[in-house]
Amino acid sequence: MKRELDADLIRPEKLLSSSDTAGIGTDGCKNCCACCRMRGSAIVLDAWDVQLLKNGLNFSFEGLLAEKLITLAVIDGVVLPCLPVKEEEDECLFLKENGRCAVYDFRPGICRMFPLARIYHPDGSFSYFLQDGECEKPGGAEIRISAWLGYENVKEYESFVRTYHDALVRLRNECAACEKTEDAARLQMDFLQEWFF
Ligand code: SF4
Ligand code: SF4
Repeated sequence: MKRELDADLIRPEKLLSSSDTAGIGTDGCKNCCACCRMRGSAIVLDAWDVQLLKNGLNFSFEGLLAEKLITLAVIDGVVLPCLPVKEEEDECLFLKENGRCAVYDFRPGICRMFPLARIYHPDGSFSYFLQDGECEKPGGAEIRISAWLGYENVKEYESFVRTYHDALVRLRNECAACEKTEDAARLQMDFLQEWFF
């Protein structure tokens, strides 16, 4: 199943930009850690996420892989880096026993957004939206989304992830059109080299 969401399925009034506010404050958080459990689906890392982890943990991409601090998995037909999952616990490797994140300062974008998610529009823009039923805490304080994400330069971040997303969509289309498995594998290796190594 593809992870791309169709913007038509989300009511326009629910689509938000990073300069909007949303009721996402942490007041009411039950520390249940459900947001750090995988529930059968991997947390996929983009190239910005991996760069943060490289800087924060002081490893190259190869080093992160060798130390098993990231893993590779086939996501919608393409090999991509993901957060590792603790064996038998179905939770993120970086979730500590006290319920805190071991890599909080350089945690991935998907963790920063939660309980928001992102949707990409064909015109090159994208929106955030509040995911229904993903977090059991009652509505929190209104917070500006740019502040919630916690990046120094949100516009630079958004421009980067948009460019990365479009490159990934192109890769998926090119791989789907490949007649030989080895051609698709070469395209994917080139993509990993360009964006992650
Ligand atoms: S799922 Fe919601 S209530 Fe549970 S720890 Fe995450 S933010 Fe808090
Ligand atoms: S990186 Fe941190 S915030 Fe993200 S899922 Fe893992 S423990 Fe949770």
